[in-house]
Amino acid sequence: MRIEEDIKLGFKDVLIRPKRSILKSRSQVDLIRVFSFKYSSITWSGIPIIAANMDTIGTFQMAESLSNFNILTAVHKYYSIEEWKNFIFSSSKYILNHVIVSIGTSKDDFIKIKKIFSFTSELKYICIDVANGYSEYLVSFLKLVRDFFPDKIICAGNVVTGEMVEELIISGADIVKVGIGPGSVCTTRVKTGVGYPQLSAIIECADAAHGLNGQIISDGGCSVSGDIAKAFGGGADFVMLGGMLSGHTECTGDIIEEKSKKYMLFYGMSSISAMKRYEGEIRGYRASEGKTVKIPFRGNVDSTISDILGGLRSTCTYVGAEKLKELTKRTTFIRVTEQENCIFNIFKE
Ligand code: 5GP
Repeated sequence: MRIEEDIKLGFKDVLIRPKRSILKSRSQVDLIRVFSFKYSSITWSGIPIIAANMDTIGTFQMAESLSNFNILTAVHKYYSIEEWKNFIFSSSKYILNHVIVSIGTSKDDFIKIKKIFSFTSELKYICIDVANGYSEYLVSFLKLVRDFFPDKIICAGNVVTGEMVEELIISGADIVKVGIGPGSVCTTRVKTGVGYPQLSAIIECADAAHGLNGQIISDGGCSVSGDIAKAFGGGADFVMLGGMLSGHTECTGDIIEEKSKKYMLFYGMSSISAMKRYEGEIRGYRASEGKTVKIPFRGNVDSTISDILGGLRSTCTYVGAEKLKELTKRTTFIRVTEQENCIFNIFKE
């Protein structure tokens, strides 16, 4: 047994120090980034925020709405080939440019993406997603997918340490997804005792990835737009959001009405709700590592996104970053023991 003594930090442990700036207004800030990749020769430009590939969040409707903001959606893996076909044939090039196709690591997953990508050349991104990215099986599956799709942008994860980021990039990933345990409906840390505070994971993994010309997605743990700014400030190239995008019209789930208030269910992908839905049973050997929560229904996702983007632009003006790309360079974190002043939260709607 060994103990690492240096402190690992989460979003709640820091704030970003303001810096002298020549920017006059938030409207001068450019949130669009232009990416080129280690393996794929594709160039992608857009706002590097991604709707999570959870079945309630990563829907075709979400992809349509978020493409209007130049934002990506990682579409979940539970749509059938037929549903994919219909979506692809009824969507513009522009929408497809904002879609990431998510898969697991089974033989069927491999057959399925080959079929999905045979319908169009406009889809650019593949995300190979497993809860525990430390498995050798992920590495060999990734190599297989890279061999078959030499020019697609491939993301793989999830991991939280530099050495595994390097292994995934060397094995064919353009982008590595980072995050174990920070998610809003995740109980991995409670169930297993395993995890890594997200900000430190970002800082360490971004360093490892950038050294090899790779990129990272920070996945999970953002609960306010300030957290997204901290993730970018820490070195994340992309930030993935689940909970912050939940409870909207674009999400899957019934709207429940109680005492004239509307709610929606939101659940983790390894929660009992998801297991029952997709596997029809709860397997004895598998503990649930996700929660199910009932959250207020918030209407269209547009106003939530505008709010997030406004917050990010404001962060950039506070530190003098004219472009989102400059945010990391302009970020100095200060360690703190306080965040929001919550005195009036009891009156909040
Ligand atoms: P959020 O933005 O809600 O904080 O985090 C979203 C991320 O949580 C997802 O992209 C995914 O990586 C993770 N996640 C989703 N469902 C579960 C689950 O049931 N268990 C765990 N451990 N993580 C989950």
